[in-house]
Amino acid sequence: MKNIPLLRPNAILIAIISVAIVISTNYQAFTQEYKIKTIVIDAGHGGKDGSTRGEYSTEKDVALKTALRLGAAIEANMKDVKVIYTRSTDVFIPLYERIAIANNAKADLFISIHCNDMPLIRSSVVTGYKKVKGKRVPIRSSVYRKSTSTRGVETFVSGMGRINEQDEVIKRENAAIFLEDNYKENYEGFDPNNAENYIILSLMKNTFRTQSLKLAKLVQDEYVNVGRVNRGVQEKSLAVLARAGMPAILTEIGFISNPAEEDYMNSEAGQEEITNCLLKAIQNYQRSIEG
Ligand SMILES: [Zn+2]
Repeated sequence: MKNIPLLRPNAILIAIISVAIVISTNYQAFTQEYKIKTIVIDAGHGGKDGSTRGEYSTEKDVALKTALRLGAAIEANMKDVKVIYTRSTDVFIPLYERIAIANNAKADLFISIHCNDMPLIRSSVVTGYKKVKGKRVPIRSSVYRKSTSTRGVETFVSGMGRINEQDEVIKRENAAIFLEDNYKENYEGFDPNNAENYIILSLMKNTFRTQSLKLAKLVQDEYVNVGRVNRGVQEKSLAVLARAGMPAILTEIGFISNPAEEDYMNSEAGQEEITNCLLKAIQNYQRSIEG
């Protein structure tokens, strides 16, 4: 058995002080992690993916205009925060790449901006009459219409929700996957033709579920404060939010299928109001986590 020399008392003291310094430095690093330093703003769609359109504007253009304006508002009002855009021009960016931009930048928040739309509903109308065996019978043809009165705002976070292949938001906001060349590799074997595969997206762990829900709620609160119709916060299997390494939301700023909301989203006053709501929500979120 070796003879282990006893540590001298001052050596023990130095060791204790060193440990204390290491702990306090780590504690500082830990608390500093909760500061919002980088925000990624994602203008939905772009390039060959125009997504929904209203009477005169497309979702990709309204989303880009809003994203750039929000970014400028953050830079003007939150001096220590860096803004990164997933796109600042009319280009196509795959959904997985959008969240990869945020993950690589170690962003603290991810905000995706979109416009809502109503699905086309098929109905049959009488367009004339013909004689069949002496009887007058109507000639029918199909027409497709969408509701132009549905309005309001809703904000999504990544999560299980209900797996519903008929869910219009899931279909629309994940549709860009079809436009990507290697979607099977990029989404772990995801097959957009198989509704059950949407489960894969929803099972990608949402580590920041609580924070994402909190931010989404704050965004909806601000919309409500300015009189928008509240369609609430929902959890959905959305490819753009899957794999987010930070709190992440997708906000639908209005229905482009509703002429009044299309005008509002394209107007100077509407743009100002929407981006103000988002800025205030981000600032409220910052206050709540940074204390
Ligand atoms: Zn969209």
